[in-house]
Amino acid sequence: MPYCRECGAKLVYDRETKTYTCSGCGLTYTFQDLVVESHRAFEERLRENEKKRRREEYLEWWLSKKQ
Ligand SMILES: [Zn+2]
Repeated sequence: MPYCRECGAKLVYDRETKTYTCSGCGLTYTFQDLVVESHRAFEERLRENEKKRRREEYLEWWLSKKQ
């Protein structure tokens, strides 16, 4: 079940218009919007993981230097 990117409420599928409508704020999304959105969220998560890994590596290096 997809969720609204603005308010986090559930999206309701409308078969007639083939769009998703937010039950919270009333925003409408097309299927394409949701695909693009989930792809972007996935890439953001990858970037976050990469940043976190670099920080950990740096911390390890820094700690090993101190000993
Ligand atoms: Zn909403």
